[in-house]
Amino acid sequence: MLIPVRCFTCNKVIGQKWNPYNDKVTEYLSSGDTEMNARGKALDDVGLVRYCCRRMLLSHVNIIDQLLQYANNPSEKIVSSITPEESEQEDEEN
Ligand SMILES: [Zn+2]
Repeated sequence: MLIPVRCFTCNKVIGQKWNPYNDKVTEYLSSGDTEMNARGKALDDVGLVRYCCRRMLLSHVNIIDQLLQYANNPSEKIVSSITPEESEQEDEEN
């Protein structure tokens, strides 16, 4: 999903470091570093020293772009199988 705004353990704000981190990783990878070295150097560059904060970026899987494919498109009509009368009846029952 989205990168958490704060580290779960120490509460340091890390949300703004995701994009610089990714840019650094691709930069180091293109310069011939291994995956592990590139990520380590990138974490050092964005200023994440504690391992609790480093794991937040290392273990993050960014799937928001894939999830957005399934988001409701506001230009489309929302198709509901329940008519307004039926939903009012349900409200009265509850
Ligand atoms: Zn932390």
